[in-house]
Amino acid sequence: MEIVRLHLARLDAFHDIPVHGFVIKHPRAGAILVDTGVGWGDERLIKDWKVVNRHAADAMAEHDLSPADVKIVINSHLHFDHCGQNAVFKHAPFYIQRSELERARREEPTNGQWFDFAGARFELLDGDGEIAEGVRVVATPGHTVGHQSVYVDGPDGVAVMIGDAAYTADIYRDGDKADLSPWPGQHADRDAWTRSLEKVHASHPHVVHFCHDTRVLGHS
Ligand SMILES: [Zn+2]
Repeated sequence: MEIVRLHLARLDAFHDIPVHGFVIKHPRAGAILVDTGVGWGDERLIKDWKVVNRHAADAMAEHDLSPADVKIVINSHLHFDHCGQNAVFKHAPFYIQRSELERARREEPTNGQWFDFAGARFELLDGDGEIAEGVRVVATPGHTVGHQSVYVDGPDGVAVMIGDAAYTADIYRDGDKADLSPWPGQHADRDAWTRSLEKVHASHPHVVHFCHDTRVLGHS
């Protein structure tokens, strides 16, 4: 199954942080989109984070894909840079951890309309779950309470889209011993976060993709 990385935005506030989404080209289920980048219209947020934003449709067009191709959306979590353009895909169901939707409704009122718009169809998960044959979500709480990562089975092993369970390849490698001083938001619950990273390591992924690091760990 081919995994296509989308360049959805850049956050220039601290470092030049890329914002990636991913399309899994599933032979039967169609295109499965993981995360939708930053939304539009919140000028304060755009300014605070120095967002250089792109339309998801433009990012997809680079790969001869269009929003209509997307049959399923998975949000790793509901921070502003992962669910901002969900409404572009309102024809698709959104697979989200139930605890994450509850958290975001409490804590993210300003960008609530980005994921909680009228008619949004949620498929709420309580822990790990299969989304399509060979594609599953694995609960990786700690960055947020309802964070999840996406595992895709391939001939050489599993490919992991880790979401924000690790912002970078270095953090993934070093885990609890990583220098997180440049990355204050890495965990909301340090113990849960550490356990989640150990869980991903234990699955011995063939390749790991990051939302905020252009490096890809392993070989594809
Ligand atoms: Zn996040």
